[in-house]
Amino acid sequence: MLDYVGLEADLGEEERLIRDTARDFVEDKVRPDIADHWQDATFPMEIIEEMGELGFYAPNLDGYDLPNVSEKAYGLLMQELEACDSGIRSMASVQGALVMYPIHAFGSDAQKDEWLPKLGHGEAVGCFGLTEPNHGSNPSAMETHAEADGDGYVLNGSKTWITNSPISDVAVVWAKDRSEDDDPVRGFLVETDKAGVTTNKIDDKLSLRASITGEIALDDVHVDADDVLPHVRGMKGPLSCLTQARYGIAWGAVGAAQDCFETALQYATDREQFGKPIGGFQLQQRKLAEMATQITNAQLLAHRLADLKARGDLRPQHVSMAKRNNVRMARETAKTAREMLGGNGITGDYSPMRHMANIETVYTYEGTHDIHTLILGEDLTGIAAFE
Ligand SMILES: Cc1cc2nc3c(=O)[nH]c(=O)nc-3n(C[C@H](O)[C@H](O)[C@H](O)COP(=O)(O)OP(=O)(O)OC[C@H]3O[C@@H](n4cnc5c(N)ncnc54)[C@H](O)[C@@H]3O)c2cc1C
Repeated sequence: MLDYVGLEADLGEEERLIRDTARDFVEDKVRPDIADHWQDATFPMEIIEEMGELGFYAPNLDGYDLPNVSEKAYGLLMQELEACDSGIRSMASVQGALVMYPIHAFGSDAQKDEWLPKLGHGEAVGCFGLTEPNHGSNPSAMETHAEADGDGYVLNGSKTWITNSPISDVAVVWAKDRSEDDDPVRGFLVETDKAGVTTNKIDDKLSLRASITGEIALDDVHVDADDVLPHVRGMKGPLSCLTQARYGIAWGAVGAAQDCFETALQYATDREQFGKPIGGFQLQQRKLAEMATQITNAQLLAHRLADLKARGDLRPQHVSMAKRNNVRMARETAKTAREMLGGNGITGDYSPMRHMANIETVYTYEGTHDIHTLILGEDLTGIAAFE
């Protein structure tokens, strides 16, 4: 795939290995059927454990039989998965960055022992419940709450737009703890087969169709005191998970754009009109030149983020800039690639239109493009403009 400024040369052996493993995996196991899954709005369930066996869930974490690879290797993995489909990358992102990461960072030893091996091997599926029907961009206004009850808590509320909730074994539910002063937000590990939990599927999505999305309704759900993540209180909990996941999205968006670019380049070389390949016309060359340049800019930003993350200098605002820039780039690239394919470009035979539809979700979730603009605006001026 496009690597115009030769970033490949700076990759370590482990980084190449995980990238190539992921690339081969999607080529052999996912790409052949992904358009059908997308059309049918199904997820290829058989790959959940296979991705676990390959160490694709939270491979940048340590202990618990996790690979502990570099942040760049993790980013390259996200890039390769999303080059196939944003729904596949979303599965790995949620499981790794939004479920395993908070258990790893904020969980008790017992919680880690119980969940990290199962989730890491893909023997259990997890989801992350933050968004609510009335609170999306402003999750701190959440209504879902926990009341102390004997040896545990009772949870009530509802979450929506939750990736994987209908196929999950466990949900990380963020709720306000009314048993403490100021009702701090806390993370609860809620097994989805508990009495009072329902996880209805959301149908009729026109984006991210090869991904299962649902709700989490909590109706007097009793959880034990041992089910609360003990080491975090407040919005820092969910927001730090989102920083991990957004880092992966910044890389994943590059993969989706690369796949669109390669498809358009091949098509421009093969397709003839007016007696020559359409890639021989200046108008089409301009589109290719622009796509290649913007992908390269986004790649450089992702690689820089990996270096900052590895040495502990990555700030959430850096991640906001990269998520915002790279997803917008992928959105534009998919649209341009689609148009270069003419009528064929609107079919499922080619990937750009599928990527284009998927990226509408990626542009919206994990902080909308607008919200990342406001995060950067606040960082640059010192003045918050959210309200
Ligand atoms: C397929 C899919 C999967 C998802 N998976 C998950 C998941 O696993 N877990 C989870 O918790 N959530 C998930 N989400 C939810 C996602 O994070 C939210 O949709 C997102 O945060 C936006 O919230 P909202 O949809 O309520 O939009 P709103 O917050 O209602 O925003 C609507 C519009 O208003 C704009 N806006 C909002 N506030 C401001 C402001 N202050 N200034 C200017 N403009 C503003 C937004 O940018 C947007 O354009 C998922 C969403 C989708 C579509």
